Amino acid sequence: MAGISIASKTNTLQGISTRPALIGRAWASHIAGSLFAVLFPSDCRICGAPLIKISRLPVCCECVEHMHRIAGHVCARCGERLFSPYAIDDPEGEPRCGLCRRIEPAFSRAVAYGSYESGLRELIHLLKYGGVRPAASVLGRMLGEAITTLEPLFPAEGVVVVPVPLHRTKFRQRGFNQAELIARAALKLSPSRERLHLCTGAFERKRETPSQIGLTSHQRRENLRGAFAVTQTEAVKGREVLVVDDVYTTGATVSECAKVLRRAGATKVWVATVARTLKVSAQHVEIKTGNDNDNDIEMDEHSEAEQVALAKAVGI
Ligand SMILES: [Zn+2]
Ligand SMILES: [Zn+2]
Repeated sequence: MAGISIASKTNTLQGISTRPALIGRAWASHIAGSLFAVLFPSDCRICGAPLIKISRLPVCCECVEHMHRIAGHVCARCGERLFSPYAIDDPEGEPRCGLCRRIEPAFSRAVAYGSYESGLRELIHLLKYGGVRPAASVLGRMLGEAITTLEPLFPAEGVVVVPVPLHRTKFRQRGFNQAELIARAALKLSPSRERLHLCTGAFERKRETPSQIGLTSHQRRENLRGAFAVTQTEAVKGREVLVVDDVYTTGATVSECAKVLRRAGATKVWVATVARTLKVSAQHVEIKTGNDNDNDIEMDEHSEAEQVALAKAVGI
């Protein structure tokens, strides 16, 4: 019995030794992964499944793979979901949502990678409120894909890329500007990065904008008025600018940015974000457009409870 056992073991070992290096690497990776799981037991911060691969990002591959691009018809100007197959075209022959038909957006076009929900929303929160910086590279890859859809529209000399700035108090609290981290990651991966000129010092948030909760539409617009300023006009004057941010909720923030940048001489303003809130039904369209379109800050700032929950989840 012992002989049979030794013989079969020998065969197995011989089999392994003659396999290609690829198999060896897979084994090494498997062993390293198992060791990692034993030494640093950790669960995916989104689904809770045990992490078995070595990664700086505490999120499993399955969760990342489920963060899809927006599918279906969207407004050619703001990227909002369109439900009617008879969406009315704008003068350029492209479909527009009701809001963009009523009010001409301050930006030329806004695009987003995915819907601001589920895993993608949680990944953004992990970066913003959990301080999980490795999330920026995954989000940057997504932002890069969104930017790619705009690239055919950019001029030959390229565009000035401006991440939406944080107020310095918020920056100090958070330690980083998530929009800038994501933009840097996107540019690093972009094959046409020589046409994307990152500019982080020419545009600033002059004052903190208080929570928008409970404010009327008019009050919300007032709340954002004067929040941004161009500090180096020569950086944007006569140039096309691409404003980038993590999330587009109703567009109030990027619209205000676009107005200020255009006032400073930017010839066109484009917008790209990682995620966007999307209407879930045609009925919701009526509720939303009849209500208000300026809740960016509310979405951003009222996440205090989420912030605390995330901080607990990541053990800080
Ligand atoms: Zn997961
Ligand atoms: Zn629209």
